[in-house]
Amino acid sequence: MDKTAKDWAAELPDGQLFLGGEWRQGTGAEIVSTFPADGSVNRVLSGASTSDGNEAIDRAKRAQADPSWRALRPHERARYLYRIADGLERNAARVSHIQSLDTGKTLAETQALALSAAGTFRYFGAVAETMDDDLTAQRGTALTLSVFDPLGVVAAITPWNSPIASDAQKVAPALAAGNAVILKPASWAPLTALELARIIDDAGLPKGLFSVLPGSGSQIGNLLVEHPDIAKVSFTGGTQTGRALAHKAAEKLMPISLELGGKSPTIVFADADMNQAIAGVMFGIFSSSGQSCIAGSRLFVQRAVYDEFVARLVAATKALRVGHPFDCATQVAPLIHPDHQSEVAGHVNRALEDGATLLCGGKPPMGDSFAKGNYFEPTILADLPNTARLCRDEVFGPVLAVLPFDDEADVIAAANDNDYGLACGIWTRDFTRAWRVGRAIRAGTVWHNTYKQFSISTPFGGDGDSGIGREKGRQGLRAYMRQKSIYTDLSGAPHPWAGPIPGST
Ligand code: NAP
Repeated sequence: MDKTAKDWAAELPDGQLFLGGEWRQGTGAEIVSTFPADGSVNRVLSGASTSDGNEAIDRAKRAQADPSWRALRPHERARYLYRIADGLERNAARVSHIQSLDTGKTLAETQALALSAAGTFRYFGAVAETMDDDLTAQRGTALTLSVFDPLGVVAAITPWNSPIASDAQKVAPALAAGNAVILKPASWAPLTALELARIIDDAGLPKGLFSVLPGSGSQIGNLLVEHPDIAKVSFTGGTQTGRALAHKAAEKLMPISLELGGKSPTIVFADADMNQAIAGVMFGIFSSSGQSCIAGSRLFVQRAVYDEFVARLVAATKALRVGHPFDCATQVAPLIHPDHQSEVAGHVNRALEDGATLLCGGKPPMGDSFAKGNYFEPTILADLPNTARLCRDEVFGPVLAVLPFDDEADVIAAANDNDYGLACGIWTRDFTRAWRVGRAIRAGTVWHNTYKQFSISTPFGGDGDSGIGREKGRQGLRAYMRQKSIYTDLSGAPHPWAGPIPGST
């Protein structure tokens, strides 16, 4: 066991909440963070209560309205974001170890996520200071402008699978736009957000503008959605939770953005570079142990190459190294929690009941080194129709369904016959076909001959049950602002409707 990681987690400031710029004991229920590789306790937190939540919102509201923040010009606000980015870079090793403890992800992945979070803060600092208000085309006597103001207090509710990435994608644009932010991390992985709070505090952000409230979704999450002083909720998580929050947001007529689940298709045409496609398909579903919203979990392979492709894919999958998150040879690390491991196993069992053929995996690996962790073998199942439960339900684990297809029209119809619409991978050497198919598939992101590549400058989000709204990209800043139109009369004359004004000369 790597001592350094536990030491770093233990060094998080003593108080367990970061409330309005202060570290302090929460007055809500305990939250226990455990290490997915062996079940050992990382940290027991006293979570936030409703009264902690109310206080954080009240402080955020006052801090956001304070001229020391509200009156800052965008380039001045950007300096805070650059300092946070510097802090994330300086502390990347620490952030990554804490995140691996929190989630069980490999260190290689969490290191990349920590650096990418720094890039996210830097990017939105740059966007804030270079984004212009709009001078609109004049159609009357008035000069017309469209300007953008902060919303006020924004709540960010995030899942456990890639905490530093989802936290940064919400906190950075929300702060850059001039808001205050209350972040509620997932109860299974609360430590990374607290480490982010430490870095943001060190960067000197005015007190009150940022709080981290670990606490249960049903209590703290609900409070944030229902509270009248929360002007927007930015949510990433499951579709069922997102739908419930959307109902509540509708009651308040509050904007909400929803980054939800997926059941993303990957499509391999017969002309694809087979090695490239096999590697890409494996990365798409088995990296992060499949705990990724964009996991390519439904694989369609053209019938002419189906047998050969699937045989080679299975052989390569059996050779993947399942192991400890801190072992640099590990490709597939443990799942987040024993309950989640049971859920993943449940999906596999239901698929077998539905007539699937198990090609590999299907269970936790054997051996002492796996006994206490939430490991699950990379699993491939075949011979199910696209209507089977495994092809419709999000598993959020290392489980792939493979299906054959005959032609382009076939596969477009099958790929789109699903409630989700998050991502799609297309493997072919024919660029025009990739273009046609990519345009026809309902998905927020399409990858051609690659998968799971991300750029903060490229918008991301889903359609259908995968969500509403887009994050990232320059417009990602506007998602945290309210638009206002301003007309300034240039004629200098009274409005003719009123006729001559008595007493005027
Ligand atoms: P989840 O159960 O929906 O939880 C997400 C967050 O919502 C957690 O902080 C959770 O708190 C909170 N929450 C739960 N119930 C709530 C309620 N009634 N009111 C307010 N907040 C509530 O999802 P998860 O299991 O953490 O994450 C996995 C899901 O996230 C998958 O479906 C995955 O596809 C999706 N995801 C989507 C994206 C994307 O960008 N599209 C990215 C990553 C993950 P507690 O932890 O305290 O319950």
